[in-house]
Amino acid sequence: MVYLYFGALIFFVFGAKIRAFVTGENPSQTAYSLSMSICDGFSPLPKSSNFGQKTKKISAPKYIRMKYLLGVTLDTLNTWFQERGQPRFRAGQIFDWLYKKEISDIMQMSNLSIDLRYALDKEWKAHGIELVKIQTSDDQQTYKFLWQLHDGKRVESVLIIGENRDTQEAQRRTVCVSSQVGCPARCAFCASGREGLLRNLEPDEIIAQVYEINRWLQKERGERVSHIVYMGMGEPFRNYEAVLQSIRTMIAPDMMGISQRRITVSTVGVVEGIQRLASEDLKVNLVLSLHAPNQKLRQKIIPYAREYELQSILEAMYDYAAKTKRDITFEYTLLAGINDAPEHAHELVELLKNKQCSVNLIPYNPVAGLKLEKPSHEAIRGFRKILDAGNIISTCRYTKGDDIAAACGQLALQKS
Ligand code: SAH
Repeated sequence: MVYLYFGALIFFVFGAKIRAFVTGENPSQTAYSLSMSICDGFSPLPKSSNFGQKTKKISAPKYIRMKYLLGVTLDTLNTWFQERGQPRFRAGQIFDWLYKKEISDIMQMSNLSIDLRYALDKEWKAHGIELVKIQTSDDQQTYKFLWQLHDGKRVESVLIIGENRDTQEAQRRTVCVSSQVGCPARCAFCASGREGLLRNLEPDEIIAQVYEINRWLQKERGERVSHIVYMGMGEPFRNYEAVLQSIRTMIAPDMMGISQRRITVSTVGVVEGIQRLASEDLKVNLVLSLHAPNQKLRQKIIPYAREYELQSILEAMYDYAAKTKRDITFEYTLLAGINDAPEHAHELVELLKNKQCSVNLIPYNPVAGLKLEKPSHEAIRGFRKILDAGNIISTCRYTKGDDIAAACGQLALQKS
């Protein structure tokens, strides 16, 4: 009994310190000087005995998942505060720090009392991903970010600096985000699905890729992310809820405030995902990874294509375009000797004729271990000519970042 009381006393006195030990968080010194009076109605946590003194920084243990602020709605956060007798505006204050001031460390949110910060910090973190490394392409136009997740798994995102078709900005700064660890689609030409799907990413893990790259970009170049494409590792519509939550966070004016016109979701063709997105109150751009002009060839290139008839995918795409008034794009990875012949181009014209759409041709980017080849320049030119003659608008995306394996389809699973 005596031991129990003693144990409880120790826990009470050192509670905050133990928490700091477990989470690895070390409250910043600036935080301590702030007034406690903001904390009306909040029952304070026991204070650590070393209040205001330096503690040894211990990094957070792996495989612990807390609650994450990025992606959480104002309502959810409001409820959390209300349950603790706090006024509603607290959630707005957190949003302001997180999204407007872009401060992710709870202990730096200085208009919240120190006790409140402790209480928040005990349960919440901004997000659960950690930067492992950044690789830069020789031309300094492409940056690949490797992230470590809470369970030790790793994903990558790519930042591409490119010319801009809009006149307001000198350059586009596009982040290509991953939505899953691995990919279920297993496209024959892509590195991402070679080991199948390992797991879905959580909303914070998707949002944080953009959030952190944006902060990095601001620090390094004084610029901000302008466009987002869901074309990294994974199939966004096989992780629908998390992807939707990430989109909502990116577009909400009191969150990241990015225009929907600058967000593009790319899918291998998950019909119910396309239909669901069409039924949301959203207008993001939608791209279908087509890669072949008919079902038979498509199945050969994309094993996952067996799940849905090409015609039903196309219908869902056209329906999306009609509902959202957005033009749709078809991605077509050109593989030498497989889908780059003139007859494929003619068949593509037939498939898409009279439709409001464009085709984005992507010459295959080599993936180690795959016996596939880039199409010749003549083949690409010939293919485009046939599309032009058939009144199909096309663009050709030339390789960016292949020297650091950051080009389309080169994002592979990375071991920790
Ligand atoms: N699962 C989604 C998003 C990820 S792939 C989808 O299938 O759309 C995004 C794009 O990467 C695909 O459209 C494909 O065109 C491109 N891609 C993948 N591997 C490639 C490679 N090796 N070379 C060129 N493009 C590739």
